[in-house]
Amino acid sequence: MSGGARMNLLWLQSGGCGGCTMSLLCADTPDLLTRLDTSGIDLLWHPSLSEAGMDEALRLLEDIRSGRQRLDALCVEGSLLRGPHGTGRFHMLAGTGRPMIEWVRELAAVARYCVAVGSCAAFGGVTAGGSNPTDACGLQYDGRYPGGLLGKDYRSSAGLPAINVAGCPTHPDWVLDTLHLLARGELGADDLDDLARPRMYTDLLAHHGCPRNEFYEYKASAIEPSDLGCLMEHLGCMGTQAQADCNVRTWNGEGSCTRGGYACINCTAPEFEEPGHAFLRTPTVAGIPLGLPTDMPKAWFIALSSLAKAATPQRIKENARADHVVARPGRKPDRK
Ligand code: SF4
Ligand code: SF4
Repeated sequence: MSGGARMNLLWLQSGGCGGCTMSLLCADTPDLLTRLDTSGIDLLWHPSLSEAGMDEALRLLEDIRSGRQRLDALCVEGSLLRGPHGTGRFHMLAGTGRPMIEWVRELAAVARYCVAVGSCAAFGGVTAGGSNPTDACGLQYDGRYPGGLLGKDYRSSAGLPAINVAGCPTHPDWVLDTLHLLARGELGADDLDDLARPRMYTDLLAHHGCPRNEFYEYKASAIEPSDLGCLMEHLGCMGTQAQADCNVRTWNGEGSCTRGGYACINCTAPEFEEPGHAFLRTPTVAGIPLGLPTDMPKAWFIALSSLAKAATPQRIKENARADHVVARPGRKPDRK
């Protein structure tokens, strides 16, 4: 948008847990409603946050569909349930007698921008896991494959694909910064990565800024989630592959998964929900983790990690397997 016009926003919830809206409510610099207002965004309707009842909401949807009401940004949270047999009748929009996927198709066709909020809406996410009995998919992806509900050629009226603000849940600032840029007309195709995720948060890795970096450098690894060491070697951490700025932007002002003792599970990526092994276990071959940093040749990693392990200072070795600092910097190593 440009010329000082405000952008309106319609939010729909489909096949998800609602966790992305819960996360949105954690926006705190400033709070959600202030942030929307100062970004020039008017919320037309949100199923959990709006006072308007369903009758009013349905009139709004009809007005948008018929062209009586302009729609600038359509945000969809949750995956799109195509089952059974492509009818979408596993998820009917209450009071309309019509499947949610029909509404989403029609509203996306007239929206200036279409935003997939969270990994469910982007790629299918956890709702599409296992045998996927509801035939869940994302707005424009089915797992890692382009397509999804809207098809790979879909473009909103502004000429952009569905913008995938992936994450499970997604960070409130990822959503609000994306909407802010859209409202200012400052987010274009070049600002999206090859999975249509905004690069303002996927140009970094979750590994960047992780407080366990010193342990990672020496391959000093945690054995238990409560240990201070790096979570990659044994506990499944995918922070060196996960495109997200979680440890730079942080969550709720100070947190992240790895800061809280939980391995990064790469939740901004398609099909993260089916890693093929337990989330908190690192699959290895001959002791080498299968998932290596995205841009490091395997031979380099093996050579560097052997060297690093041989050179690990005693302080780092001891602290890596403790739940608090047991060896302070500056202390001389204990003689054995
Ligand atoms: S992406 Fe995760 S948090 Fe968001 S709706 Fe889906 S399951 Fe819930
Ligand atoms: S715990 Fe994960 S994100 Fe943190 S340093 Fe280790 S590999 Fe990187």
